[in-house]
Amino acid sequence: MKLYRSAIFYCTKKSGVVDHSYFEDGLMLVDNGRVVDIGDYSRLIESVDVGAPITQFKDSILMPGFVDSHLHYPQYNVIASYGQNLLEWLNTFTFPEEERFSNGEYAYEVGNLFFDELIRNGTTTAMAFCTTHKLSVDAFFSISKERKMRMAGGKVLMDRNAPVGLLDIDSAYKDSKEMIEKWHNNGRLSYAITPRFAPTSTTNQLDEAAKLLAEYPNSSNCKGVMMQSHLNESSEEIGWVKKLYPDYRNYFDVYDSHKLTGTNSVFAHCVHNTDDEYMRMSDTGSSVSICPNSNLFLGSGLFRFDKLHKYNIKASLSSDIGGGDSFSMFNVMNQAYKVAKLNGYDMSPFEAFYLTTLGGAKVLNMDDCIGSLEKNKEADFIVLDLKATPLISNRIDRVKNLEQLLFCLMTLGDDRLVSEVYTMGECIYKKNGGTEDYG
Ligand SMILES: [Zn+2]
Repeated sequence: MKLYRSAIFYCTKKSGVVDHSYFEDGLMLVDNGRVVDIGDYSRLIESVDVGAPITQFKDSILMPGFVDSHLHYPQYNVIASYGQNLLEWLNTFTFPEEERFSNGEYAYEVGNLFFDELIRNGTTTAMAFCTTHKLSVDAFFSISKERKMRMAGGKVLMDRNAPVGLLDIDSAYKDSKEMIEKWHNNGRLSYAITPRFAPTSTTNQLDEAAKLLAEYPNSSNCKGVMMQSHLNESSEEIGWVKKLYPDYRNYFDVYDSHKLTGTNSVFAHCVHNTDDEYMRMSDTGSSVSICPNSNLFLGSGLFRFDKLHKYNIKASLSSDIGGGDSFSMFNVMNQAYKVAKLNGYDMSPFEAFYLTTLGGAKVLNMDDCIGSLEKNKEADFIVLDLKATPLISNRIDRVKNLEQLLFCLMTLGDDRLVSEVYTMGECIYKKNGGTEDYG
């Protein structure tokens, strides 16, 4: 049994309403990698064996690890590349870089840098695009396993409109199936069937993706094969989809008609969704991954947060590395807040933290396992150093309640806040000069 004493915060959702738990002087009991109990220190300490060692975090807040529901690990080396728009950026920087992942050693090398960065930023679960190469998938899941992280990912499917070296004509189905059999539910790992987006797949390939999805029907929470793709990111892209798929009602209908929608399906962006598309997303139980950094960086548009509530859509925030320009979910919350504001929507810090923890877990259908620190969940958590910088320390000294504290963190925070990272109750990262005090 391990005991952690700290201020503790996590989001909850009951009867559709986002709420939270906060213990100013809290205690979390962890055994076999899971949360055994959590609550006020003064109440719980009575039930603990005298002499059990307690790890105490002072001037800190302990919370669930972040969940990043959409990003591309092979784009680690193209982050911060100047792009005029999505399609030009893909052709100029991303596709040439992704071609390099036919080399397994390169994939492993970049993969390790990518995971280092995720962890330094306090992200303990993510759903990632790999490339079309099986070797890129092997590298991604091997590293996930070595680092004991709950991760989802998949081989990108593209059989047209991309460089020849990235096309998987005739091999998409077979290779994906091989990867599912090898990696899905291998420890904490989940496979995601990954058609990049409608313009780079023929209808034949979308049918093959749907066939795969049907072969691995939705199983219990934390166990189902996922489906991830992009939707309505930029206006140029939407115009292109209309030309390639003239007989469909709209962009979402291309996926829907090919049976790629549903409760295990996650669509990144959705910046320009029509009301018809939102209605159908809601009917099918499909989820949105919102990528404010990437949408601002590539000038794609401003996500309409009000639509999530109007149509009751499952959603989460994500970094969309490398179209996104930050691994830090603090930075993602900061941008999301501003994007929402520009459309007249006031995002509370509780909603922002929900969308980067439990909301992400719900989108990935992993909320029985991660996303909060309720009893029996896996103990994936991070410790934030409230004295991380002079500015943060000074500002936090002046907050009057938890809401103000969280707002400061999401506005001023970045990787410097993250002092320790744990997965399944084991410390996998400790920043130099952490505030831990073992005793
Ligand atoms: Zn993306």
